[in-house]
Amino acid sequence: TRSQMNSQNQIQRRFSFEFFPPKTPAGMEKLQTVRDELATKCPDFFSVTYGAGGSTQERTIDTVLKLHNQGIDTAPHLSCIGATRNDLTELLNLYKENNINRIVALRGDLPSGMGAHGELRYANELVEFIREHSGDHFSIEVAAYPEFHPQATNAEADLINFKKKVDAGANSAITQYFYNIDAYFYFIDRVEAMGIDIPIVPGIMPITNYANLVRFSDMCGAEIPRWIRKQLEAYGDDVESICKFGEEVVSEMCSTLLQEGVPGIHFYTLNQAAPSLKIWENLNLDALVSKA
Ligand code: FAD
Repeated sequence: TRSQMNSQNQIQRRFSFEFFPPKTPAGMEKLQTVRDELATKCPDFFSVTYGAGGSTQERTIDTVLKLHNQGIDTAPHLSCIGATRNDLTELLNLYKENNINRIVALRGDLPSGMGAHGELRYANELVEFIREHSGDHFSIEVAAYPEFHPQATNAEADLINFKKKVDAGANSAITQYFYNIDAYFYFIDRVEAMGIDIPIVPGIMPITNYANLVRFSDMCGAEIPRWIRKQLEAYGDDVESICKFGEEVVSEMCSTLLQEGVPGIHFYTLNQAAPSLKIWENLNLDALVSKA
């Protein structure tokens, strides 16, 4: 598998940056600055997350349309949990009318206390629904979990469930973030053995804040390897050292991934430009992006 990936090294890779929809006008202003900085890198697309259960939905739409109209393709994330078919149809119509051509299709997670599960239960059903709605209009991204989804009954079942999304018509996948490279390549080997050949782009989370990273990783089932955790712990409140170490570790990891022929990188920016840009510079990614 790795040699196959290596032989694809000449293939053009794709780069993307993910944002969350800001809550306040000040947050939107800040995102505009971040967007402008990252736009200089000519990414293939931006994406904007979406809160299941209503929390950020309007803000996602507003942010997506605003960014998309500034010249870089912007993909809304769309989750099906808690939504009706009517809700989804309306959103898909709106995105199609506004020339949005890529969607990140997810099941989503309901905020605790919200009981209604909606009409579609899993992301593969959402992919199917989008294809029924508008054929091949949208390029569909789905989520992949090299360290397995926290609710998966077992590893095997999670792989089979991933395949259901691909069979339903997903064009490519973005992974949950990870710091164990071997988990990613093992996942690739396993899904290739199942006949899956869509690009599976590593999702990369820069390290800038230890407490947040630990909290988030516990929830989403990403492991922070012990040596990274121990080193970050040792830095305590020394934010500068945390960021410097994080930048080194993540740049090194991305460099290995690229050498091994991954099809691109998706940055979880958390609406900050600097951490992703530093990694970008360290990897000299300008050289890989054609600025036509
Ligand atoms: P699914 O693929 O449906 O999988 C969910 C679980 O159900 C897994 O354990 C799987 O094994 C199991 N399963 C799947 N299909 C079936 C089936 N047919 N039958 C039985 N079991 C099944 N969350 C948000 O709320 N908003 C976002 O914008 C957002 N963006 C994300 C972007 C990326 C790139 C990633 C990796 C995650 C994102 N998430 C987002 C988080 C995501 O919504 C959660 O991880 C959620 O718990 C699962 O979503 P999914 O699409 O992977 O679900």
